[in-house]
Amino acid sequence: MRPALEVPTGEIVVDLGAIRRNFRRLKRELITGAELAAVVKADAYGLGVERVVPVLADEGCCVFFVTTAQEAVEVRRVSKHSTIYVLNGITEFQDWKLYSRDLSIRPILNDLSQVDQWLEKRRAGELAAGIQLDTGMTRYGIAEPQLMPLKERLEGRVKPSLLMSHLACAEDELHWLNGVQMKRFGQFVDILGLDQRPSCVLSLANSSGIFLGEDYHFALARAGAALYGINPQPEKPNRMVGVLNLRAKVTQVRFVDSPTTVGYGATHQINARTRVATVPVGYADGFLRALGGRASAYIGDTRVPVIGRVSMDAITLDISRVPETIDVETEPVEIIGPRRPVDVLASEAGTIGYEILARISHRIRRVYIDEIGGE
Ligand SMILES: *Cc1c(COP(=O)(O)O)cnc(C)c1O
Repeated sequence: MRPALEVPTGEIVVDLGAIRRNFRRLKRELITGAELAAVVKADAYGLGVERVVPVLADEGCCVFFVTTAQEAVEVRRVSKHSTIYVLNGITEFQDWKLYSRDLSIRPILNDLSQVDQWLEKRRAGELAAGIQLDTGMTRYGIAEPQLMPLKERLEGRVKPSLLMSHLACAEDELHWLNGVQMKRFGQFVDILGLDQRPSCVLSLANSSGIFLGEDYHFALARAGAALYGINPQPEKPNRMVGVLNLRAKVTQVRFVDSPTTVGYGATHQINARTRVATVPVGYADGFLRALGGRASAYIGDTRVPVIGRVSMDAITLDISRVPETIDVETEPVEIIGPRRPVDVLASEAGTIGYEILARISHRIRRVYIDEIGGE
C-alpha cells in the first residue's frame, strides 16, 4: 500500500523494494558470476543515496560508483565497508587526502598525468586506484596511443584495483560500436598484461551492457539506471520494476464554459465546456517545460492531458473526463507511476529517463517504502 499523500503539493514515493528486485534481476542476468556494482552518482539518480545505498548493501552490493569525491563521502556515511569508486577521480588536490585516509574510496584515473600523480602519492604509502580505458566513447579514459606509456609506468611496480571502460551505445543492442568496444577492451587489457592478476578487476558493462550478453560482463558490471526502473533495453518491454511514484494534489479547479486560453503565451484554446485543474508542480520541480501540451497525468483511472505551457511552479490539466464521483481535491494526481512510467514521460519530453530522474528537484519531498525489506 502506498501511504496516503500527506503534503498539499508534490511528493515522490520511492519503492526501495522495487530497487531490491531490480538488483536481484540484474544479478540473475550475470550468469558467469560477475559481481554487480551499483552506480549511485547524482544522489542515486535523484532518489537519495542515504536510503538507496543501505538497501543495496543489504542485497549484497559491495561496490559503489559515484562521480565526485564529495559524493563518495556521502556514500561512506551510510555504508561503512563498501568499496567506492569515484569516476571523475581527481579534480582537486584535496581529493588525494580523502583517498589516502580511506583506502576503499578509490579514484578512477582518466589520463596519464593522473596516473603519474597516483604513482607519486603512492610513495608515501598504500593507495589504491582504478584506471579507465577509452575504447570508443572519447570522453574519459586512456586511449590506445597512451597504452604503452601506461604499461611502462605500471610495469612490475603497481597495479590498479580496477580497469574499466564505458560503452557508448549499449542501449542499442545492434549497434556496431558495442562489439568494437568489447574487443578493444580485451585487447587493451592484454597489452597492459594485467589480466591474469586476480586483484585487478575488469569492468565494462553499464545497465544496458548487462543485456548484451556474457562477453560484456567481465568481472564487474556497473548498473545505475536499471536499478531505478529505467528500461535498459528501450526496444523491448521493460524487465525492470518501476521504482517511483510522483504524485501531487490539485490545488485549484476551474469550470470554463466560455472561450478562453490557458497559461503563458495563451497557447491552449478552450472552446467547449472544460474543467481545468491546477497542480503545483512545474519545471522548477523537474517537470520539464518541453512537456507542455504533450504529457498527461492520471486521476484515478482517467488520463488527464497537460494543457498549455508548463510554468515554473505549476501545470494545468484538462480534467473534464474525470467522473463526478471522484473528489479531485483529495485524489492524488499520478505524474510518474505505473501508468506513467519514467521512460514514457522522457520520450514525450524528447529526452531519456535518466534526465527526468536527475532533474526531480528537492522541493518535492521523498517518501520511502520498502515492502520486501519489511519496513
Ligand atoms: C553513469 C555510468 C554508469 C551507469 O550507467 P547506467 O546506464 O545508468 O547503468 C556506468 N559507468 C559509468 C562510467 C557511468 O558514467
